[in-house]
Amino acid sequence: MKLYPCDKCDNGQIARYGHVDNGVCFKCNGKGKLPYDPSPKGYIENNFEWSEQERLEIEAEQEMIARAEEENWRIANNIEPY
Ligand SMILES: [Zn+2]
Repeated sequence: MKLYPCDKCDNGQIARYGHVDNGVCFKCNGKGKLPYDPSPKGYIENNFEWSEQERLEIEAEQEMIARAEEENWRIANNIEPY
């Protein structure tokens, strides 16, 4: 199977999100490669919209991680959720 380099990261890591989950790329699950071509025609032209969508996705992801971490912390400290 042909693999394509992931367009969102370097070798599976996104430096600017290093503070979240070690910056592991959610797109390729940290593999740095994708089983499909991530650069379809029109990507460049729609770059702004893509970036906006990406930003929203990452914000949602960060919120999810923050909640999961808080829950883990509660469980680790035997604190019942509200
Ligand atoms: Zn990636």
